Amino acid sequence: MRGACFSYVKPKHTAKPSLIHFSSEMLNELGLSDEDATSEEFLKVFSGNEILPNTNPYAMCYGGHQFGNWAGQLGDGRAINLCEVKNKGKNWALQLKGAGETPYSRNADGLAVLRSSIREYLCSEAMYHLGVPTTRAVSLMLSGDAVLRDVLYNGNPDYEKGAIVCRAAESFIRFGSFEILAAQQDDKTLKTLVDYTIKHHYTHLGSPSKRVYLDFFKEVTARSLKMVIAWQRVGFVHGVMNTDNMSILGLTIDYGPYGWLEGYDHGWTPNTTDSANKRYRYGNQPQIVLWNLLKLANAIYPLIEEAKPLEDILTAYQEELPVAYVKMMKSKLGLQELDKEDGLLIEELENLLQSSETDMTIFFRQLSNLNKAKSIDGLSIVKEAFYAPQEIEGKLKSQWLDWFLKYQKRLEKEIASDAERKAFMNTINPKYVLRNYMAQLAIDSVDKGDYSVVSELFMILEKPYSEQPENIKWFAKRPEWARNKVGCSMLSCSS
Ligand code: AMP
Ligand code: MG
Repeated sequence: MRGACFSYVKPKHTAKPSLIHFSSEMLNELGLSDEDATSEEFLKVFSGNEILPNTNPYAMCYGGHQFGNWAGQLGDGRAINLCEVKNKGKNWALQLKGAGETPYSRNADGLAVLRSSIREYLCSEAMYHLGVPTTRAVSLMLSGDAVLRDVLYNGNPDYEKGAIVCRAAESFIRFGSFEILAAQQDDKTLKTLVDYTIKHHYTHLGSPSKRVYLDFFKEVTARSLKMVIAWQRVGFVHGVMNTDNMSILGLTIDYGPYGWLEGYDHGWTPNTTDSANKRYRYGNQPQIVLWNLLKLANAIYPLIEEAKPLEDILTAYQEELPVAYVKMMKSKLGLQELDKEDGLLIEELENLLQSSETDMTIFFRQLSNLNKAKSIDGLSIVKEAFYAPQEIEGKLKSQWLDWFLKYQKRLEKEIASDAERKAFMNTINPKYVLRNYMAQLAIDSVDKGDYSVVSELFMILEKPYSEQPENIKWFAKRPEWARNKVGCSMLSCSS
């Protein structure tokens, strides 16, 4: 499609929508109440069966680089923007995912299955409460229609329950929205879209000019860095960081084959589609953001016509990344004072965490129980985090003991007391994240008509940094049955 950024389209009429869950907090953001969510009208509007008066739903056109290659035009193949809501000084675009075909569906059906919808719904809200920039989720519904899917792409398609998530964000514009216009050499529409984005979403930068385009790119860079550092902090692996899945606002977007680190491993990705190259593995995410920013720079270049200032911004990202990373890792260790050896201390820890299959969430949360007095043995404090404690023996054990000695010595430099450090660390290191098997348990139970696990997880994940002793069963290592189970640690791209 040329000369346009979106196409008007109506959501599909669904057979028998039914509500599984809604986010009270998001309803409140939109100026709605819990009671509103129980109405017949809510069911109709948030399933796409009824269009609100004076609104014009549309699907967006975008392109993208997928797994390192230009993939041409993609677009909202199964997402439809319903309308925008202004409330409490914020602007929310509401989008239904899985509401039927659009002009961008190519040969797919525009639908979403229950399992991927539950995953998107729970994870967007969990990420928000973890303090990670993200799109939000308003509601999760069953469409009442059956959807045909081949889960493992091995020639065994089967019918699954269809679902629709309503997600919300200030805007859903992506890097790929600009790339498609540059690829079409349509500088006029490109300028219209960049100007629109600045006017509505980067208003503080002032009216568009070459200088403002550079300021805009610089801020997208800063926001994307902030987002990816937050992912690394909580152990989130996006799984499919194609440029069409990069928000121009620096929000985590498109929860597909994402996963959470259980065993700390820079080389891990949950996405089976990417298993050969592991391009989007945990440890590579900050570099991929840079690669994606380079593609965005190329896309907006025609408006700037000077490569140097764009390159300078990308160079600054490369310089800021290690600084931001070390700062984040120091915060996970509760280190606030300066010490030139901190980089090394972090590197040694990362190596040890990887040579000892260690649960990331449990390790960092437990670490806050250490004290400066060396009266507590570090290894015993974090022992719950090891998947194979019997292997922490010999040389490995003495390396761990050495590391803890160094760390405890380093803690002496800290002005904050043990109690203060613990309180601080517990605002950085979550106790509860959406472990891969937890989402799968929610999926299995909804499939049987039981919505209680979704509600339970949703509530726990609203307070991921709180102790919640009553929910301690979710502060546990991944059970053995989930290690290599499809849906738990192995997911494929589209569903
Ligand atoms: P994703 O990997 O989910 O980011 O999707 C990549 C592209 O495929 C996007 O343009 C999606 O809109 C499109 N897509 C994925 N699944 C479907 C589907 N079931 N129907 C139509 N388009 C889809
Ligand atoms: Mg996508």
